[in-house]
Amino acid sequence: MGVDLQLDARETIDAAGRVLAPGFIDVHTHVESSDRRDGLQRLPRADNYVLDGVTTIVTGNCGGSEIDIAAWNSSLSGLGINVATLIGHNSVRRAVMGLDDRAPTPRELEQMQALVDQAMQDGAVGFSTGLLYVPGTYATTEEVIRLAEVAARYGGVYASHIREQGAKLHDSIDEAVRVGREAGMPVQISHFKLKGRTRWGNIGKAIELVESYRRQGVDVVIDAYPYDRASSNLGITMPRWAVSGGAEEIAARIQDDDTHSRIVGDMQAMLDDGGYPDYSYATVAQYRPQPAYNGRTISEINRLAERPATNDAEIETILDMMIEGGEAGNNYGASMIYHYMSMQDVDTVFRYPNTAVTSDGTVMAYGRGQPHPRSYGTNARVLADFVRDRKILTLADAIRRMTSLPARTFSFHDRGIVRPGFIADLVLFDPAIVADQATFEDPHQYSVGFDYVIVNGVAVVADGAMTDKRSGKFVKGPGAD
Ligand SMILES: [Zn+2]
Repeated sequence: MGVDLQLDARETIDAAGRVLAPGFIDVHTHVESSDRRDGLQRLPRADNYVLDGVTTIVTGNCGGSEIDIAAWNSSLSGLGINVATLIGHNSVRRAVMGLDDRAPTPRELEQMQALVDQAMQDGAVGFSTGLLYVPGTYATTEEVIRLAEVAARYGGVYASHIREQGAKLHDSIDEAVRVGREAGMPVQISHFKLKGRTRWGNIGKAIELVESYRRQGVDVVIDAYPYDRASSNLGITMPRWAVSGGAEEIAARIQDDDTHSRIVGDMQAMLDDGGYPDYSYATVAQYRPQPAYNGRTISEINRLAERPATNDAEIETILDMMIEGGEAGNNYGASMIYHYMSMQDVDTVFRYPNTAVTSDGTVMAYGRGQPHPRSYGTNARVLADFVRDRKILTLADAIRRMTSLPARTFSFHDRGIVRPGFIADLVLFDPAIVADQATFEDPHQYSVGFDYVIVNGVAVVADGAMTDKRSGKFVKGPGAD
């Protein structure tokens, strides 16, 4: 679009019929290692992201991050992608207070603030919360503000997995905005959605609330992934009071007669609140004790166990999996895919101009488990389905949501735009054939149509395939020296 780059090039790429765009920036990922087989340390090439046009990812979202950012930075090598991180509230709180359901003492609050401070100096790009999850869920808004304002002093962003995304969505948006206002920093509301069939079709009202805050001068933007299903753990089907502590405490509550019946009652109420007739909306992505469960719904697993097709029986199936998954090392039983949202609401979110495109995914060990396809196909899916096929977005607007919009909120001042002097993170693709291939049934499929992906001036993808180049870097936030 009229930018004269005036370059002396060593290599010339024929881009006839192709689109050259800034490399995509995915500001909502989770690439910390949860075991020895995954995470960016084990999978530094990040093939699934690079082959989807992504040149920079931000991890440490939803309150979960590394604590020692400097050590994590130096542990990374052979990166095929740029990576930045947030410092996560849940991780900080866990390091200082364990999984306790209480307010911090003044001394504990200071310790948490010191961890956030150090992380920002070591290059974190902001502060994230996951107020749905243990132990962040035990924090008051005031605690979050006291920690967020430390990150704000260094120019960080507040990235919020808000407290509740169903009946209390609007209250939860209010809370995230209050944190940003009082701490004095931009707010990114993560993976914007409205859960529960009974509420489907109403997400436009939540968008209006966000827009009303923007009109008041609040710097708040949102992001979303282009799918109607979410990914989380099995523990979120249980009431929050029942999942505090580790796997042993959770198992003890399930095995105690009194708390068992309270758990069952609350789970039935949660099912009713979402308008779900049973647990067929919940599919296992990965369950360590029984890999044959991967890809099956809770209702199917319940039938396999030859239990009656009742809510009570399905709840017992979940509780058994919580105990056995916990014994196998997964605190929250299993990783899951939930059919939470309506596609109509997803489209409404994407039509909003202040929605960035994010995957909420991770680096993939090719072929392992039955993960959400978003880690492979998010950007290609937007370009193919939302732009080319259904024309919900124009091509230029879709690219803006993958590049300059998130770059601004996350203070990437030299990325996200093709401009002289900016870092050469670039993607070249064919708009006629770019497409995601990963599906819920068959998720381990790379996107197609990306001919070149250039990271820091070096082609990590050429002619549609990974090269042997690894030019990714750890990208530091505005607080680093
Ligand atoms: Zn989240």
